[in-house]
Amino acid sequence: MNIILLGPPGAGKGTQAQRLVDRHGMRQLSTGDMLRAAVKAETPVGLQAKAVMERGELVSDEIVSALIDAELTALGASAGVIFDGYPRTVAQAESLDAILASHDRSLDYVVELDVDEDALVERITGRFSCATCGKGYHDKFEQPAQPGTCDKCGGHDFKRRPDDNEETVRTRMAEYRAKTAPILPFYEARGIVRRIDGMADIDAVTASLESIVAGAPV
Ligand code: ADP
Ligand code: ADP
Ligand code: ZN
Repeated sequence: MNIILLGPPGAGKGTQAQRLVDRHGMRQLSTGDMLRAAVKAETPVGLQAKAVMERGELVSDEIVSALIDAELTALGASAGVIFDGYPRTVAQAESLDAILASHDRSLDYVVELDVDEDALVERITGRFSCATCGKGYHDKFEQPAQPGTCDKCGGHDFKRRPDDNEETVRTRMAEYRAKTAPILPFYEARGIVRRIDGMADIDAVTASLESIVAGAPV
């Protein structure tokens, strides 16, 4: 099972991907997470990507497609994959076809999280995550059960992303509209796009997603 979660920043891709990982043992491949790790480790890719990410613009297609290819090689054939935040351009979607074919994989679904843009700034500016295990939270919509303690690992350190500010979010949304939304027709022509109401609460979105992945081999 290989699926793409598609939606603008703050749509809930990471939140839902984490749930599929926990429930089905699928693997989440997030180019955003890979790039943040590269920035932190100050690798050549990280040094190149840092300023671009801070502005909220897109990193080059070559860089992100190479990251995905390397991750799939490391993963081997077993686990199902959730692509989170990739592809983000038509060129990346075309690369993904070639990459998947070279790994004997094919796409089952492209799930579009349909959201109201006005809600996204609030989602993004309230977002934080556990510094230890990465579990995502929100100041208002998904707080830890016990304030200051991670539900998943019991950690007490939390972090916020430097690009999760209102100004950068506006740029990221514009990038989504201009460059990412045009990949939908590319997949619609294959009949694999499924649309979910991303404005529903987190559990309801998970239920819709589960009904899409149900029955397919993981
Ligand atoms: P969000 O989950 O809020 O949409 P991500 O974590 O996916 O954000 O991405 C953060 C930043 O990393 C993006 O704004 C962009 O600069 C870069 N990035 C991540 N994935 C890609 C990609 N597939 N192509 C180009 N740039 C990317
Ligand atoms: P993305 O990966 O698409 O950028 P996230 O999954 O990180 O988005 O979600 C952005 C923020 O919004 C997070 O703080 C998350 O807890 C919260 N969130 C995610 N889905 C929902 C939802 N359906 N309703 C309310 N808040 C949500
Ligand atoms: Zn944690």
